[in-house]
Amino acid sequence: MPEQEPKVRARNFDEVPLGYSPETAQLEAGRCLQCKKPSCVEGCPVQIDIPGFIRHIKEGDFSGAIMKLWEKTSLPAVCGRVCPQESQCEALCILGKKDEPVAVGRLERFASDWQRTKGEFKLPEKAAPTGKKVAVVGSGPSGLTVAGDLVLKGHQVTIFEAFHKTGGVLIYGIPEFRLPKAIVQAEVDILEKLGAEVVCNAVIGRTLTVDELFADGFDAVYVGVGAGLPVFMNVPGENLIGIYSANEYLTRSNLMKAYRFPEYDTPIVFGKNVVVLGAGNVAMDSARTALRLGAESVKIVYRRSRDEMPARGEEIHHAEEEGVEMHLLTNPTRFLGDDQGRVVAMECIKMELGEPDASGRRRPIPIQGSEFTMETDLVVISIGAGPNPLITSTTKGLQTNKRGYIMADPKTGKTYKKGVWAGGDIVTGSATVILAMGAGRIAANSMHEYLTVGW
Ligand SMILES: Cc1cc2nc3c(=O)[nH]c(=O)nc-3n(C[C@H](O)[C@H](O)[C@H](O)COP(=O)(O)OP(=O)(O)OC[C@H]3O[C@@H](n4cnc5c(N)ncnc54)[C@H](O)[C@@H]3O)c2cc1C
Ligand code: SF4
Repeated sequence: MPEQEPKVRARNFDEVPLGYSPETAQLEAGRCLQCKKPSCVEGCPVQIDIPGFIRHIKEGDFSGAIMKLWEKTSLPAVCGRVCPQESQCEALCILGKKDEPVAVGRLERFASDWQRTKGEFKLPEKAAPTGKKVAVVGSGPSGLTVAGDLVLKGHQVTIFEAFHKTGGVLIYGIPEFRLPKAIVQAEVDILEKLGAEVVCNAVIGRTLTVDELFADGFDAVYVGVGAGLPVFMNVPGENLIGIYSANEYLTRSNLMKAYRFPEYDTPIVFGKNVVVLGAGNVAMDSARTALRLGAESVKIVYRRSRDEMPARGEEIHHAEEEGVEMHLLTNPTRFLGDDQGRVVAMECIKMELGEPDASGRRRPIPIQGSEFTMETDLVVISIGAGPNPLITSTTKGLQTNKRGYIMADPKTGKTYKKGVWAGGDIVTGSATVILAMGAGRIAANSMHEYLTVGW
């Protein structure tokens, strides 16, 4: 797929891949063997009829392709861009054994972009009103999926979102150059056209509790609040000015548009020598954001080796092409500041890998005496996130596991509290967009059964 040149794109927030033309999409779709037992579908967490939608593209019926996609996903433009296809559907594509697998994700993106920009949009049919009211807490991919499914089944749905914008991580976390925000908004607009109500700036657990939602007449509640609580290193100097959690750094840039300063007056530290700690997708997004905010050098510092880096291969590749440096087998031991309390350097230690730990990855072990200092004026800590305890601490009867995540039945999404379902990152811990959507779909089916048959 054509992309913006690395040197050019590293300084702008426009989307990196430029998308397929109809001709290229049809050519790529023509490679699909239309397998009778398509293994790609087995690799898709929501079982999209992959050969089916690809066949429509091959035949030039792009509207038919999107209708096929919509049978299983309400966010195809998002999934086509951010799903880890290389470890899901594409990993199992039969062509991948000898050659390149069919570019399922790129074709999904093509069909949804074509529909949004060129096709006629027909709202799906809704079932007759049931008179039941559902509250969806959180507007990430999981909450949006529940809302979409239940509104189509005839229920009255209200989405409560703590931020001033809907979309969850799709809006506040994943940067514009990977997922344009207008695309997420377009998907939310469809939900609103279908009749879902959206209430922003509503922090459930504070503005209203879950029990107050029931008292206000809601018959069922879905909790899809994600796992957005930052995890820190707990090393000396971590509270110096110029040290952000990835969550705050990306939220300031994406949701609050610091990258369009001074048009938007969100303050953010514009570092010259930026260090990002961690090596997942969130770390790659932070590093590439720092470049676009004007950094002269950006370093990823990671305590394990390249083989253990959790980010998608494509994200690592894009980051390196843009000039992000990888400093592997390295870990910070403390941050050093100036007399104004601003970070100026980071003391690090070199690591080596031992036996695998509980995560299955080889355990990093510090090499004594290998300490050295790295200069930096901006550090972004991107080593993971956890569950925010606000809802669980204000709702009687919701049970959590020892890490603080809500316990829900994976087959239904039911929690231990009657009338309350949960899914997405708040149940599984940080995962993926498509898994959060899959959990939403499972819960929506179970909630519909409860609202029409009983618990
Ligand atoms: C920077 C970043 C990059 C990522 N990149 C990828 C990727 O490339 N591919 C991929 O598949 N996955 C990626 N992920 C992971 C993916 O985005 C998440 O797994 C997914 O968004 C989880 O969906 P969710 O609906 O459970 O929660 P979220 O998307 O976190 O949405 C939860 C929503 O609930 C709201 N909320 C929280 N508390 C309350 C409350 N008390 N009251 C009301 N609202 C509340 C939040 O503001 C938020 O809008 C990335 C994550 C991050 C952070
Ligand atoms: S496995 Fe590959 S070739 Fe076969 S149907 Fe799926 S995408 Fe097409």
